[in-house]
Amino acid sequence: MEKKEQLYEGKAKKVFATEDEGYVIVSYKDDATALDGLKKGTIAGKGEINNRMSNRIMQLLEKNGIKTHFVEELSSRDTLVRRVAIVPLEVIIRNISAGSFAKRFGVEEGIVFAEPTIEFSYKNDELHDPLMNSYHAVALGVATWDEIETIKSMAFKINSLMKEYFLTLNVKLVDFKLEFGRLPDGTIVLADEISPDTCRFWDADTNEKLDKDRFRRDMGGVEDAYNEMMRRVFGDK
Ligand code: UDP
Repeated sequence: MEKKEQLYEGKAKKVFATEDEGYVIVSYKDDATALDGLKKGTIAGKGEINNRMSNRIMQLLEKNGIKTHFVEELSSRDTLVRRVAIVPLEVIIRNISAGSFAKRFGVEEGIVFAEPTIEFSYKNDELHDPLMNSYHAVALGVATWDEIETIKSMAFKINSLMKEYFLTLNVKLVDFKLEFGRLPDGTIVLADEISPDTCRFWDADTNEKLDKDRFRRDMGGVEDAYNEMMRRVFGDK
């Protein structure tokens, strides 16, 4: 399928229509933002890495019974996906304390939780993605109770599958963000992307950060970290 008109341009991706209204093409950019959009830059090669890595993980999840929007990788940056209505919740799963969790609760990074945690943020840039609990989401019509139950159980299953997979690459899955969408018949599917932009990855031996925190925190070695994750996921490439 070919790209037709651009429907949307986000911070890291563009979305194009196709001849079939049930499908869109996502095109990954090298642009990066952080700190609520205050910090902007580019990470050379990121678009290709995130596209290919996200597709690989979506396929792994599909094999394990998770429904996703993924259809077909069209090129190094472009992927055909099902058109969905995004549920405006950022679903965050945490296995180890880091980032905003560590800040909010005044604890250090690196506390390994006995059980993973889940939280939702309302996806709204103007409001700076405020935390939202499931009662708030239902009250505002963001999702139904059934949808929230589905999203929670899918998110924890995705966490188990990804945690195990990344450990085989000697990577700890610290935390990550998911987004879900509705197909026209109402089925909830995993959407958006899974990449070093949306996950915290630490080397299992050294705890070296292999993700976007290197960009957020001006740590240097940003491209190297993305390339290293790519190498671990795809072998020698
Ligand atoms: N995250 C994301 N997009 C966001 C906010 C967070 O992909 O807009 C991811 C982030 O990469 C991390 C996890 O969600 O893996 C938890 O992020 P946190 O709440 O700690 O926020 P941050 O410290 O990144 O602001």
